[in-house]
Amino acid sequence: MTTFKLGVAAGMVAAAGLFAADVAEAQDQQFFSIGTGGLTGVYYPAGGAICRMVNRERREHGFRCAVESTGGSIFNINAVKAGELEFGVVQSDWQFHAYNGSSRFEEEPFPEIRAVFSLHPEPFTLVVRDDVDVDNFPDLAGLRVNVGNPGSGTRATMEVVLDAFGMTMDDFALAAEFAPTEMARQLCDGNIDAFVYPVGHPAAAIEEAATTCNAQVADVAGEPIEALVDERPYYAIAEIPGGMYPGNPDGATTFGVRATFVSREEVPEDLVYTVAKAVMENIDDFRGLHPAFGILEPEQMVEAGLSAPLHPGAERAYRELGLME
Ligand code: GLU
Repeated sequence: MTTFKLGVAAGMVAAAGLFAADVAEAQDQQFFSIGTGGLTGVYYPAGGAICRMVNRERREHGFRCAVESTGGSIFNINAVKAGELEFGVVQSDWQFHAYNGSSRFEEEPFPEIRAVFSLHPEPFTLVVRDDVDVDNFPDLAGLRVNVGNPGSGTRATMEVVLDAFGMTMDDFALAAEFAPTEMARQLCDGNIDAFVYPVGHPAAAIEEAATTCNAQVADVAGEPIEALVDERPYYAIAEIPGGMYPGNPDGATTFGVRATFVSREEVPEDLVYTVAKAVMENIDDFRGLHPAFGILEPEQMVEAGLSAPLHPGAERAYRELGLME
């Protein structure tokens, strides 16, 4: 518990130019942070939506939520582990590996990672410039491809996909590492031919690419992907529906994971309880905050894509709300 950094952000209060009453209020509050992703993804709005649900009742419970834009899933898992963040949004495949100490977490397992709830599905999305001839993932050989910034779930899952197709980064003319906010511009400026992004839909980064230069979603499909999905519980075949993005009437077939919301064992039960309850009790409002959240159902959110045990605070909230026995 030594690393749990609840406290008053005095600088924040001063910078906001608050009045004495607000300062008094802020002093009674405990701040906590959620690690998300790039501003043009869906993790960042997800963190914002969670904070909104929590902060509107802050006078009652005394917790105040802040969102941080980060490098993505792997960064978030490591920061939650280190006690730098209380919560993080992470892909279900990397939650699984962190908890089980498999894949890239073999050397440094994180058995204290705890599930809180799951969010939207994230199809592994391949986006290509209109003038390149790519129908399916293997067609990327010889092209300039953005493989995700270090620390992103994008990059980590891209390595799994390459492996499944018997390919490596060396098969690309260039493996670029632009962060999500850069991807559309780099694609439309002709500096890369394609990017991959496991993300909820619609995502701002893909909307920007489709609108600016008619970028197209393409398939990540075939036997290697079917084998991957058969072998691993956290993958499923996924469709990006036609019409999701401007100029993309056909959509694409791929596979996907789920975005999940995690914490760690040492984070106080009261805090996790408060956050889990605020989201589930206000699920109708929450759904309205991003189109990717429209399909969320509490019964599914407390189960799907969660491979780490539920945090006891979350469990308490779900029992109280009748979401669990
Ligand atoms: N799934 C991506 C990652 O873990 C982030 C997607 C998003 O920001 O919405 O890197």
